[in-house]
Amino acid sequence: MNANFQVTVSKDYLSFSSAHFITFRGHKCESLHGHNYRVGVTVTGQVDPECQFVVDFAVLKEILRPMVDAIDHKVLLPTASPKLTLEESGDQLTVIYLGAPRYQFPRSDCALLPVTNTTAEMLAEYFATTMQAEIEGRGFDHLTELEIEVEESPGQAASYRAVLSPSVNVTLDTTTAGRTAISSTSTTG
Ligand SMILES: [Zn+2]
Repeated sequence: MNANFQVTVSKDYLSFSSAHFITFRGHKCESLHGHNYRVGVTVTGQVDPECQFVVDFAVLKEILRPMVDAIDHKVLLPTASPKLTLEESGDQLTVIYLGAPRYQFPRSDCALLPVTNTTAEMLAEYFATTMQAEIEGRGFDHLTELEIEVEESPGQAASYRAVLSPSVNVTLDTTTAGRTAISSTSTTG
């Protein structure tokens, strides 16, 4: 049972069409625009000795799909940006960039995400860490890694890999637990 297996789910319905803009170094800020994003998840681990699968595909879809649906057809806004301030007033949300109002949206049209910038990299980390908590909470001790890929457009994607922590009754070198490096296959735009 030393072999590592991987399962991947990357379905057409794991996609979202959303608006965003990112901030660059200094005082550059993109114009608002949209992408047809697609999310894929790959989980690494040993096969369950009884079922002979790493994890039921249905479980991955059940966790990921609501996260995707929640931000579909929304304006994606970062709540942890050092350059943007989001001000809610009634049902309106004003985006202030470096002290000056830049956009105003109906609050219900926005998805506020705990990231510093809505790059594909940060969206991948957001999906991965949220999904990581869900999977660890379900006690899948035989799973070791979770990788999320966010594709902004065909052939242009970023990914984030999280190392999964087994529950306390499994022996593990704890120095390997937690997040690992981000790997990006292209820049965003
Ligand atoms: Zn973009």
